[in-house]
This record gives sequence, structure tokens and C-alpha cells, in this order.
Amino acid sequence: MNHEAARQQGFAVPRRRYLPYENRMNRGPSKWSRNLVWTASDGNRASKNRGSVSCICKFWIAGNCKRRDQCRFLHSWCSFPGMAMVTSLEGHEADLKGIALPTGSDKLFSASGEGSLRIWDCHTGQCVRTLNLQAEAGSLISEDSWVFLGLPNAVKAFNVQTSRDLHLDGVVVGQVQAMTVGYGMLFAGTTSGSISVWRVTDTESDPFTYLTSLEGHHSGPVTCFIVREHRLYSGSVDKTIKVWDPNTLECIMTLRQHTDTVTSLLCWDQYLFSSSLDGTIKFWACSEDGSLEVTYTSRQGEKVHALGGLTDAEAKPMLFCSYQSGTVSIVDIPSFQERGKMFSTHMIGTLTFAHGGLFFSGYKSGKLRVWSLAATKESSEN
Ligand SMILES: [Zn+2]
Repeated sequence: MNHEAARQQGFAVPRRRYLPYENRMNRGPSKWSRNLVWTASDGNRASKNRGSVSCICKFWIAGNCKRRDQCRFLHSWCSFPGMAMVTSLEGHEADLKGIALPTGSDKLFSASGEGSLRIWDCHTGQCVRTLNLQAEAGSLISEDSWVFLGLPNAVKAFNVQTSRDLHLDGVVVGQVQAMTVGYGMLFAGTTSGSISVWRVTDTESDPFTYLTSLEGHHSGPVTCFIVREHRLYSGSVDKTIKVWDPNTLECIMTLRQHTDTVTSLLCWDQYLFSSSLDGTIKFWACSEDGSLEVTYTSRQGEKVHALGGLTDAEAKPMLFCSYQSGTVSIVDIPSFQERGKMFSTHMIGTLTFAHGGLFFSGYKSGKLRVWSLAATKESSEN
């Protein structure tokens, strides 16, 4: 790994070598991120500790660093060829609830459980704005030029191109912990188990029209969504995955194979992947009669908190699996063969992928890290 080289030069992310799975409808490549230059040398904490920050703490490796978060050496490590940490963004003090890079913006948005939203300049790595939300953030996503923020009993929307700031009208019961956009709708799942739905319109006057709140289906908090193939999937603390018809907004199936909270959902090809605190990742396939069957259960031996999907430079799909211990496994799909690992002292609760091999990890501790996979072939070929 060559952190220092990347830092000093800054680097342009190569064009679309690594692609996040197309998990949402109408999700085109981010024009902006293809030409991204993230210069970490001007970053905040990184520059103060220049020269030492790229060294791995030898005490941490031995498992006995007493400095913990105050340590000036790295408490993380990755073993994936070419993967490098670009920078660590310091400022949040609690659990990251969402990280978003909206289309057409050179700003990264992050929201945390301590009740703040931070906006980071991608060129300098500096936090350019901190918003006190007066409430705990529950989730944060972006779709095109919109950033959506989930709060207790509320969803807010911000447009990075027009600077328009909206409080969405409608019934929202509980903390919004998961959101997704698909089929021209915004879905917000809450701790009460309900899912609030808005129609996304192109009108200036009323871009989000409240449709309904789907209640009485999930008996526990909604934790995750995925939209794919004429279906909306929702996962919950109630251990189930519900399958919804987006045309009728009816729940058409309930999948009950997990024995603990469903933490993350992902689609690849005709498969649905689900991770759970029960320590498994399940692969579901659609059978001929339309039902979903588990075709493979991968036992991980510890709680799985997040999944992320990416295709590599050879267009091969990879799955990132984040565990309770702070480890992230990077595996091939569908073989589940391990290709690499990331280690950290804190658990990664949020993984967000941008085009061009750039991704963001949000930790339970409030740390936010920017990673690049793009160094690999490009640099070795040159
Ligand atoms: Zn240390």
C-alpha cells in the first residue's frame, strides 16, 4: 500500500473501471466522480500528522494500543491489491448513519447519530459546513442532485444544484432509518415498522407528493431497502424481508429465513443478497413460480452489519461484507472466494460506493474514511 504517494500527488480516478452495482432505477454514472481529484494533503487531521499517519500502529497490530482513538498512527489495514485509504475525515462523534455523494456535486454529505450533518469539500478534504440537526439523524442518501435526510418523524430533501431545501409533507411515524428511491418514488422506513412513500415529480412547485404510509406489515424497525426488477425489498429488525409490488404498493411476499435483524440488502444479476445479525449472508434466487428461494447460505461466524457491491476492472462482481469486529471481507461473487480484507478497530456501519473505484466507510465511532481501489492496474501499467 502506498498511502504517502497517493497523498502527495493527489490522483485522478480512472474512468469507470470500478462500478457500483446498479441497484436503483435510472441511476446513471456520476459525471462528476469520473473526474474526481481528491487531494488529501490539504486535509485536516491528515496534514497535522503528516509522515506518521500512513504508518500502521504496531501496538494496534499486537492488539494492545492504549492510545485508542487518540493514537496518531493508523488503526486500520487493508489487504486488497491496490486499495488505499485516501483520507480520514474527522469531525463526527457518533455512529455514521449515511454518506452521500450527489450527482454533479463536489461535496460529500455525511450524517451522524450525534445530530449533525457535515458537508466536505472533495478537493481539500475539509469540512466546509456543519449543520446542527437538533435531532439524531437516522439515514442519509442521495439520488441525482437530491440529498435526503431521515430524522425522527421527518424527511428533509436538499437539492445541490438549486440549493432548494424542503421538509417533506406526509405521515412519518418514528425515526427514519432507511431510504431508497425507485419507480419514481421515495421510500422511507422507520423504527415503527412503517414505510412512508412519496411520488417524485418533475414539477418545480411540488417535487415530492406524499402518497401513503405502509403500516402493519413489519413488526419491527425497517433497516434496509433495495429496488430491483419490478420489486421493492425491505428488511427489518423483525427478521423478515418483505417483497413489494411498486405498482400497487402491496406486500406480495414475506421472506422468513433469517433468525435475527436483517441488516442489508443487495441485488446482483437475478439474485438478492441479504445479511443479518444472525451471522449469515443469504443468496436468494427467483424461481419459476415467482417465489424467492434461498440458494446459498454463507455462514460468517459473526454479525454482518453492511453489504456493498462493486464490479472490478474486469467487470467481475465483488461483495464487501462488514462484520461486528471491524473487519470487512471482500469476496468474489458468486463463488464467495475471499479476495481481500480490511481491518479496523471500529465496526463499519455504512459503505457507500461512487463510480471510479472510490468508496466511503462510516464507522460506529464517527470516523469517515475515503478509499480508492483505482490505484491498482492503472499505476502498475504506467
Ligand atoms: Zn495505536
